[in-house]
Amino acid sequence: MKDLHIYNSLSGEKEKFIPLEEGFVGMYVCGPTVYSNVHLGNVRTFMSFDMVFRYLKHLGYTVRYVRNITDAGHLENDADSGEDRISKKANLEKIEPMEVVQRYTVDFHQTLNDFNFLPPSIEPTATGHIIEQIETIKEIIKNGFAYEVNGSVYFDVLKFNETKDYGKLSKRNIEDLIHNTRTLDGQSDKKNPQDFALWKKAEKYHIMRWPSPWSDGFPGWHLECTAMSTKYLGKKFDIHGGGMDLKFPHHECEIAQSEASHGNDPVNVWMHANMLTLNGQKMAKSTGNNILPYEFFTGKSKHLSKKYSASVVRFFILQAHYRSVLDFSDKALLASEKGYNKLMDAVNTLSAIKASNKTSDFDIMVWIEDCYKAMNDDFNSPILIAELFRIVKFINQINDQQATISPQDLALISKHIKEFVFDILGLKTEISSVTRFEGKLKETVDLLISMRKEARANKDFEMSDKIRDSLKEIGIQLKDGKDGTIFTIEN
Ligand SMILES: [Zn+2]
Repeated sequence: MKDLHIYNSLSGEKEKFIPLEEGFVGMYVCGPTVYSNVHLGNVRTFMSFDMVFRYLKHLGYTVRYVRNITDAGHLENDADSGEDRISKKANLEKIEPMEVVQRYTVDFHQTLNDFNFLPPSIEPTATGHIIEQIETIKEIIKNGFAYEVNGSVYFDVLKFNETKDYGKLSKRNIEDLIHNTRTLDGQSDKKNPQDFALWKKAEKYHIMRWPSPWSDGFPGWHLECTAMSTKYLGKKFDIHGGGMDLKFPHHECEIAQSEASHGNDPVNVWMHANMLTLNGQKMAKSTGNNILPYEFFTGKSKHLSKKYSASVVRFFILQAHYRSVLDFSDKALLASEKGYNKLMDAVNTLSAIKASNKTSDFDIMVWIEDCYKAMNDDFNSPILIAELFRIVKFINQINDQQATISPQDLALISKHIKEFVFDILGLKTEISSVTRFEGKLKETVDLLISMRKEARANKDFEMSDKIRDSLKEIGIQLKDGKDGTIFTIEN
């Protein structure tokens, strides 16, 4: 099997993946700020890393996957100004900040569960790690890369850049950053506009506050990820992921904080998932060009013509590579739904087909290798899905008695198709067209199938064709195989 290669945002190249410790992978992914319902862009980002997590486990690695919950410190403006997002929501709704956190953490978990995500190994919170964050600040101050002004502590970007490289991940150079940032208006305590807060002194009205050596206050947003990734994965770990929008300043600041506190460049491979658009436009609540994840399940959105199952949405998202921009549209979802049903019908058909003594009309070993090749090439799920449709075609040919398969190859296909479809892509069968069509309706179709069989036994081909054609007209397709007739349903 070919080695796994991952595109590293830091080097800008696909690199052969070599874990720091053989057999083990440490992966950190920046989680949500829980002040509103999780949006679809987040779902895509976390789904990309859910697939990465699943594939690494499939390859036999023991993976420690840490994904945090930001429940304090994320200000409205990423440049350390504005209110804390959670406090603001709490003020608006006249509830405790921790009620906001609880409500949207539950929503986040529920949504990810709907989309069949595996839970991470550890899900730490910013408020649960205030002590670790204070200790990290102390280290950074001790090493001369931070300064205190009026109870707040700022990271000294210019000082850091004298000996290190600030901007190496986002490929920005400090001169351009200085040039492009507006000068301070005298309201800020920062020495330079590029500096960022490690600790902010809380204003009187600010509810979420903790004691520290500098003031009663709260940690800067970037700090929690450095403190928690170091605590659970060590000073250097294998993979750090997040949405593309976090590359700067958030991830750049994480690197700087780690290097300034413990001297290590913290991450081996940086991975960034690309963004989503809706009908070719950026998604934004303010313009109404927006779908919330749960709206797929109700179909109640002006952007949707019907409801979609979570697996169809998941399948749709994974049909694009995680580093490409993905455009949602109802039309594209409808096409994906067809593809998804076709795939699930083939998985169902597979359990009914019989092997023969003849050799297979398909090189299964090459197919398996091609599937792995796709995933080993920077988790290329669209190519994997294309490979799955190659085998779908073959399965349907066997079922139509136009191709043969040996017993060994049949066992190999069954094993691998299940691993790729369910374990790695994380799809579910429960909404496959046939299983969705359960109960009395399924019994009715089965009854018609047996009546058609009887008609054929009596050589009443007019009747048997009538049953087949009438069912086809209403979108129910009968397929005759060696073990009898099965049916699939079009949408
Ligand atoms: Zn982070």
